[in-house]
Amino acid sequence: MSEISKSEEQWQAELTAEEYRICRQKGTERAFTGCYWDCKDEGVYRCTCCSEPLFKSTTKYDSGSGWPSFYQPLNGEVIAEERDDSHGMIRVEVMCKRCGSHLGHVFNDGPNPTGLRYCINSASLKLDKV
Ligand code: FE
Repeated sequence: MSEISKSEEQWQAELTAEEYRICRQKGTERAFTGCYWDCKDEGVYRCTCCSEPLFKSTTKYDSGSGWPSFYQPLNGEVIAEERDDSHGMIRVEVMCKRCGSHLGHVFNDGPNPTGLRYCINSASLKLDKV
């Protein structure tokens, strides 16, 4: 289980409406609309909800999907995965392990060295620039 537990009212008070819909209600931003899909700045992408460092910009790549895409998380400890069979698809949902925030999904069509594509909503991330 996640280490951080807040009421829905607390999350709603701390997040924007869009962040709340995506992070706490497992929503998805429209492709090519988020603030990071085309971002090439260097730094660490942290969880919008709890500030846990989740991805490094050095593992970000252009997947063409319209969402920020990474081929690996910061380390093996920060991401939780869960099967998601909503919307008529079988996917693997990825969440922040620390606070349970919905991040996006991971797919097996990524580049080397992992072959993975972590397809993440911009709204779920905050870039800490170096
Ligand atoms: Fe978090």
